Amino acid sequence: MSSYGPAGAAADAMEAAGGGSYRVCDTVVLVCLACASALIVSTMAVCFRRAFANGYTASAGATAANGRSQCGLAPSALSAIPKLAYRRGAGAGAGWAQCAICLALVRDGETVRLLPACGHLFHVECIDLWLRSHATCPLCRRDVGEEPHEKV
Ligand SMILES: [Zn+2]
Ligand SMILES: [Zn+2]
Repeated sequence: MSSYGPAGAAADAMEAAGGGSYRVCDTVVLVCLACASALIVSTMAVCFRRAFANGYTASAGATAANGRSQCGLAPSALSAIPKLAYRRGAGAGAGWAQCAICLALVRDGETVRLLPACGHLFHVECIDLWLRSHATCPLCRRDVGEEPHEKV
């Protein structure tokens, strides 16, 4: 057949360009679709990431501004927590105490803070550092500003 010659092939190609062949068109369409969807997906991903980042910073800022309990304790509230020199055997413990923050034993005569809400005691420098960024007991997570109403 003459259509398999060079002239015939060219004619076939022209026919294909005119929309005769499905294969070429399908490939082109698929590539275009893939490119378009990739572009859309990446654009949406960037948009979502920005929206989420904005939302998170906005909510975090609102929480920091409104709820003091989420961040540290106020200096006045901190100084209201009783501070005392630890006496071995004087407290409710069995003669010794451990600071749960630095995990060291509290030695006789060291200054400690006794959290009024739960009765846990810590080195004054350890708990002060903790309470600058938290308002809860590091041991039992109880709100430090909370009134002690466990003993009824
Ligand atoms: Zn300590
Ligand atoms: Zn506690």
